[in-house]
Amino acid sequence: MRRKTRLIHGGISGDEKTGAVSVPIYQVSTYKQDGVGKHRGYEYSRTGNPTRFALEELIKDIEGGHRGFAFGSGMAAITSVLMTFDQGDHVVFTDDVYGGTYRLVSKVLNRFGLEATFVNTSDLSEIEAAIQENTKAIYVETPTNPLLKVTDLAKVSEIAKDKNLTFIVDNTFSTPYWQNPIDQGADIVLHSATKYLGGHSDVVAGLVVVTSEELAEKVHFVLNSSGGVLGPQDSWLLMRGIKTLGIRMEEIESNTREFVEFLSDLPEVTNIYYPGLESHEGHEVHQSQARGFGGMISFDVGSGEKADQVLRNVNYFTLAESLGAVESLISVPAMMTHASIPSERRKELGITDGLVRVSIGLEDVEDLKEDFLQALRK
Ligand SMILES: *Cc1c(COP(=O)(O)O)cnc(C)c1O
Repeated sequence: MRRKTRLIHGGISGDEKTGAVSVPIYQVSTYKQDGVGKHRGYEYSRTGNPTRFALEELIKDIEGGHRGFAFGSGMAAITSVLMTFDQGDHVVFTDDVYGGTYRLVSKVLNRFGLEATFVNTSDLSEIEAAIQENTKAIYVETPTNPLLKVTDLAKVSEIAKDKNLTFIVDNTFSTPYWQNPIDQGADIVLHSATKYLGGHSDVVAGLVVVTSEELAEKVHFVLNSSGGVLGPQDSWLLMRGIKTLGIRMEEIESNTREFVEFLSDLPEVTNIYYPGLESHEGHEVHQSQARGFGGMISFDVGSGEKADQVLRNVNYFTLAESLGAVESLISVPAMMTHASIPSERRKELGITDGLVRVSIGLEDVEDLKEDFLQALRK
């Protein structure tokens, strides 16, 4: 089965009993047992629900893993994966990881004894130097948010295998349509499905795919114990979104390429971060491990005031956090998604006040160009 076909026919498609072509929404919390301890695969919907299971089978298939799990948000998914570790364990993270992940690790999980070091994972020697006796995992995002920094997945996987570490990849930005980290040796892939997988700004969800039964048991144990599961309605919505992931990503890809070309010709715009540009630091590595460059671009418009002007005057770019939707979204990371990172650290990371991030959507790209230009030159 090829990729676009798998998005439609992967997992469990339809309902055997009735022939319904979409999986029914099993809006149910508990299941009648045929005798004490004798059930038909489902006991209680926190533990398992047929609609959620269909989604879990689908993400497992499209990422090429062993088992999938669906959570109530990307952060619930990340929390549950990190809760499979023990007090005193240490994890090496990408330094410009999603702001919420940084906050979770440095303000919440640290209180339970999970130790962490944040390094530039684009530089393999930094990863190696950060590995300690108690290190249990390497956690990577590629490309990152918002500077689109790229990490070499195959090379990190070699380090992880050599040191017997679990290799975890947040694949939200690339989506399984363009990148499948398991092919490069990742053990766990996770997603904020709120973004491209859902794709329509109407559902908050998180997905996890693991590559072994041992990891599946660990993640399911935390999922069932802590309970951050995705409900049946949202599971259904997400499956509906995933069916069109391929066609959306193809269109977003071509819109984004054109928009980047347009930005490159504007004298007001500097430092365009987009892995599809040959001048981008991670261009070659990204090309070696992904089939597309995605719809995320960051660039500098000079100052926080200018960024504010652009954001206040655009009509087709929605000023909002989040990304990966049918509508183009625009944000200023320093004031929005990355506000939870201390300003000192933001500067270290290169997240300037004039840095604007856009998530290109499915509008006509000519409208996007015209709209951006009038807002920039107002
Ligand atoms: C949004 C996002 C998350 C968090 O997901 P939620 O669904 O908002 O909880 C994690 N990682 C990345 C890369 C994200 O963009």
